[in-house]
Amino acid sequence: MIHQSEISSILDGYDREKITIATIGSHTALQILKGARDEGFRNMVICKKGSANVYRQFGLADELVIVENYKQVLENAFQERLIERNAILIPHGSFVEYLSPALIENELVVPMFGNRKVLGWESDRNKEREWLLRAGLRLPREYKDPADIDRLVMVKFPGAKGGRGYILASNPEEFEQKHKALELIDKEMYTLQEYVIGTRFYPHYFYSPLTDKVELLSMDIRYESNIDGIARLSHILQDSLPEPSFVVTGNLPVVIRESLLPRVLEMGQNVIETSRELFSPGLTGPFCIETVCTEDLEFIAFEISARIVAGTNLFINGSPYSQLLYDVPMSTGRRIAREVKEAIKGDLLDEVVY
Ligand code: AMP
Repeated sequence: MIHQSEISSILDGYDREKITIATIGSHTALQILKGARDEGFRNMVICKKGSANVYRQFGLADELVIVENYKQVLENAFQERLIERNAILIPHGSFVEYLSPALIENELVVPMFGNRKVLGWESDRNKEREWLLRAGLRLPREYKDPADIDRLVMVKFPGAKGGRGYILASNPEEFEQKHKALELIDKEMYTLQEYVIGTRFYPHYFYSPLTDKVELLSMDIRYESNIDGIARLSHILQDSLPEPSFVVTGNLPVVIRESLLPRVLEMGQNVIETSRELFSPGLTGPFCIETVCTEDLEFIAFEISARIVAGTNLFINGSPYSQLLYDVPMSTGRRIAREVKEAIKGDLLDEVVY
């Protein structure tokens, strides 16, 4: 594991006037690059040949570096090149997936936005559950033994990317039958989670250790295939419903009933306070709590993403919430760059970059 002091000494050597905001070309890179520019930083995007055109097309990158394989970012020569540019890496969903939480913790010395300790907490389902429960959030019921299934449950597998491969079952027999038919390497590593019916809300928060405030920047609902397609035809399909899947294909903007905002803000605040107790200095920067709001107007949280989420791409020009907080179009990508800028001004870079 890389010691924080090693990263701190690299950061100490950085020229504060020539910081480069760098990220991997995927997920939320466009808004991260634009946000960096809007806040006056140089930026860099690291991508594979196939996606380079996207970043050329939009003309948002000062430097475009092409790699054969994203793991190349971890090679010494590559990291040295980034350090020469005074680079601060911005992690996003694909960034964490391509490099892996373990390699980021063990091999990446380039300073990164946010506390890396959070990666271990969000990628381990048991730790994540402990964190959210301690924060006073309600979570879906979980079953240890399939024989106890007494309502609709979602069967989640660790290797299932973006909800692909999850199955639903209403009783032990249905579980056995569907589970038996699966051809997954990690099919015994399942989590049985109550399927919560309600409205999904994915609020996008940003916690600034500089101001000690949790901001609600925007909110979305994920659009998922084929479940959202099935919903349109359920009255016709009836007895021949296909097995639903939950593969994210897009995002819809949403605002929530104003009377639910106090609880949305409270959940964000509680998650931050608990993170400080569990892995000091805790979660900093952007995060999203994945929730379902039930008919009793209670939020059930089924996951947390401790970094910028793709749903924020809807709000490159700001959202109904960010407009209340900022006079300029404030995307989450731009908010990250703004935080780096404020930290440089106050000589507090080591509070936002680890
Ligand atoms: P996840 O991989 O946990 O992000 O789940 C993928 C998708 O499955 C979510 O975006 C939801 O649509 C759905 N989902 C996950 N867990 C639950 C749950 N406990 N109840 C209802 N829907 C869920």
